[in-house]
Amino acid sequence: MKLDATDLRYITSDEFRVLTAVEMGSKNHEVVPTVLIAQISGLRNGGVNKLIGSLAKRNLVSRVQNAKYDGYRLTYGGYDFLAMRALSKRDTMHSVGNQIGVGKESDIYIVADAEGKEMVLKLHRLGRISFRAIKEKRDYLGKRKSASWMYMSRLAAQKEWAFMKVLHEHNFPIPRPVDQARHCILMEFIDAYPLRQISEVSSPGKLYSTLMDLIVRFAHAGLIHGDFNEFNILIRRETGEPVVIDFPQMVSTSHPNAEWYFNRDVECIRTFFRRRFHYESALYPRFKSTLSEDGVATGDFRLDVMVAASGFKQKDMRILEEYMEAVKSDGEGNEEEDSEGSEEDDSDADSTNDSGEENDETRQEDEGNDEAPETPIGAADSENE
Ligand code: ADP
Ligand code: MG
Repeated sequence: MKLDATDLRYITSDEFRVLTAVEMGSKNHEVVPTVLIAQISGLRNGGVNKLIGSLAKRNLVSRVQNAKYDGYRLTYGGYDFLAMRALSKRDTMHSVGNQIGVGKESDIYIVADAEGKEMVLKLHRLGRISFRAIKEKRDYLGKRKSASWMYMSRLAAQKEWAFMKVLHEHNFPIPRPVDQARHCILMEFIDAYPLRQISEVSSPGKLYSTLMDLIVRFAHAGLIHGDFNEFNILIRRETGEPVVIDFPQMVSTSHPNAEWYFNRDVECIRTFFRRRFHYESALYPRFKSTLSEDGVATGDFRLDVMVAASGFKQKDMRILEEYMEAVKSDGEGNEEEDSEGSEEDDSDADSTNDSGEENDETRQEDEGNDEAPETPIGAADSENE
C-alpha cells in the first residue's frame, strides 16, 4: 500500500468528520450503516453521501452491502490516514518516504519530521494473516462480538509503545520512541542491518555474550523479549553494536510461561550463532539462576511493574497475548521452522488471501481495494484528537 502524506493536508474538515464517524461507528458495527455515519457526523444526509463517496474513491472507506443494510467500513488506508494525520497534527511527523519493511504483522516506512530528520513509522497489521483461529477461540473477547484488525493492531502498538518507553528510559539499546497514535509507532531510525543479513562479524564470541547479557538484563528488570532473534536484532552499521526492536510480544518474568519464553530467546541466539558463525559456547543464561530463588527479578527496577502502571491495562495485555497465541497455533510457517540457507528476509507472509473465509454474508463492493481485510471490524475504539 502506498502511503501518501501530501494527501493528509488535503482532506476537508467535513470529510474528516465523516471519516472519524465511520471509525467511531466501527466500535459497534462491522459495517457502519450510512444513516449512522450521517448521525454521528452531524451532517445532512445528502451531504454525507457525497463526502463518503469521495472518501471511498480514495480508498479510505469501502462500501459493503450485506443482507441487512448498506454501509461502509474503514479500510487499512483509512485507519493509516487517521493515525498519520494525528501524528502530523502533533508535528511529530511531517512527510512519508519509502517502505523499508513488510513484517508478518507490520509495515515499516521511513518518514521525516519538519527538519527532514529521518524516523521509522511502524504500522501494526494484526489480523492480516488469519482470523480463523480467533473465531474459534473467541471467548476471551468477552463482550466484544468480534476480534477486529483495528482493535488488535492498536493494542499491539500501545503495548509496544509502553514497553519502548520504559526500556528507553532505562537505557536499553532500543530505538528512541517518538510518538504513538492508533496502530502506529514513530521511532528513531537506526542505521543498521538486521543480524539476519550479516554473514561475518569480527568477534562472534563478543557479540554472543553482549546479546546474552542483554537477555539477562531484560530479565533482571522483569522482562523477556519473547521474539529475540536475528530479525529483531539490528547491528549498527558504524559501530557494530546491537539494537533490539519489536516488542509487542514482551512478557513479564512473572508470566506463567516465563521460563519457556526465556529459554526460547536464549535458544534462538545459540542456534543462530551455531549455524551462521559456527560459534558455540557452553555458557548461556538459565532462567532459574537469572532470577532469585523465588522466581523474582533481582534488578533495581521492575519494568514489567512500570508498564503495568503505565496505563496499558492487564486486560488488554491478556487479550493481545491470546490473540497472538491463537494466530501462532493456527500453524503457519513461522521463524522457528525457518530453514537456513536463504538469506532473504522472510517477508512473504503478507498475503491477505486466507482471510476470505470471513463474512460470508457480506460482499465487498469495491473489488479493487485489496487493502481492506475481509475481517469483521466490530470492536474499534476510536481515539479522538
Ligand atoms: P515486525 O513486527 O513486523 O517483525 P519489526 O519491528 O521487527 O516488525 O520491523 C521489521 C523490520 O523493519 C526490521 O527487521 C528492520 O529491518 C526494520 N526496522 C524496524 N524498526 C527499525 C528502526 N527503528 N530502524 C531501522 N530499521 C527498522
Ligand atoms: Mg520483527
